[in-house]
Amino acid sequence: MLCLVRTLKLAAVFLFLAGAEAAASTFNVVASDDGARMERLADGVFVIIHDDAPDGWPHSNTGVIEYDDGVFVVDSTYLPARARADIKLIKKVTKKPVRYLTTTHWHMDHNNGDIAYREAFPDIVVIREQNVDRYIKVNSPWWKTLSTKDGSSMLKGLSELEHHIDTKMDEDGEALTDGQLRERRAFAKKYRAQVNDTQELDIVSGDILFEGRLVLLLGERRIVLTDHGRANSPHDVTIYLPAEKILFAGDIAVQSPLPYTVYSWPLDWVSVLSDIEDMPVDAMVLGHGPTQTDHNYTRKLHASYKTILDRTAQGLTEGKILSEIQETIALDDLRADYAPWTDNVTNEDWKHFKDTMVDRAFKSIRGQGGL
Ligand SMILES: [Zn+2]
Repeated sequence: MLCLVRTLKLAAVFLFLAGAEAAASTFNVVASDDGARMERLADGVFVIIHDDAPDGWPHSNTGVIEYDDGVFVVDSTYLPARARADIKLIKKVTKKPVRYLTTTHWHMDHNNGDIAYREAFPDIVVIREQNVDRYIKVNSPWWKTLSTKDGSSMLKGLSELEHHIDTKMDEDGEALTDGQLRERRAFAKKYRAQVNDTQELDIVSGDILFEGRLVLLLGERRIVLTDHGRANSPHDVTIYLPAEKILFAGDIAVQSPLPYTVYSWPLDWVSVLSDIEDMPVDAMVLGHGPTQTDHNYTRKLHASYKTILDRTAQGLTEGKILSEIQETIALDDLRADYAPWTDNVTNEDWKHFKDTMVDRAFKSIRGQGGL
């Protein structure tokens, strides 16, 4: 989470959602609804890939792993309503109950939906890395208040949308056509549902907490949960199926289309990406974005972060302050040869990515407090 989408104006978010199309995938879509597609990665292993929430925040991808008498789920998305819809999709592919739920890290776009699973499957066991559990409990009440208090960006977005509907004018003062008005009314209905959903968020506690690594043997299914420590968040956990060579990487690897880097730890992240590259994959589920079939994207991230660290360190040795490095560092070569970072990425988005990554690299290299 913590992406630049949140900083876009509602109008841009609306236009994006209205024009969004599902990216082509190499995996078969076995179930879908108007906001998600469920792809089959292997026998009994699926990923649910979601459109963004009405306020522009991204939902996590959700992993669904069947075993002999149950289902293990990875990441429950940003909103309980989306998780409830996902449960309906899961029921389309299996009659087995969801018995286990875990999350890759504390960011709420990956676990706000936990309550929906607990309501649907009261005996569900929630497994978390111990620090992830602590961070969720600290951050969830804060997020609920921040999102739904007067003047919050979520409420502001809704009120702007309702203003356009009431006045029948768009954000540029142009009259809305009947068709545009219908689309915006339908979108406003979803947006209001999101506000209600967020106001009623409930925190779910972990039932089993682990430290470091946890290996589960569920029937024939071997599931390995590994805490990699600092990368995108203070504790990023991967879920790996060694027999099937399927990796759920969480936000260690995101292509949405740029990675999320605002509150990251780039120095450690480079080492974590190196560890990930050593895990053979036939399918790698990103925290957000399309499923990968190899480690090409992992290597792209690794090389890019290393370059940013090296060039930031070079700026430091030249005696430059942060803003000077951000203004003068040359990183366009990282983008120019890579279509996912040129197509559909504005220069403003690229600058945001570049500036935040350099900021984090600058602090990491200097050993500055808080990292
Ligand atoms: Zn995320």
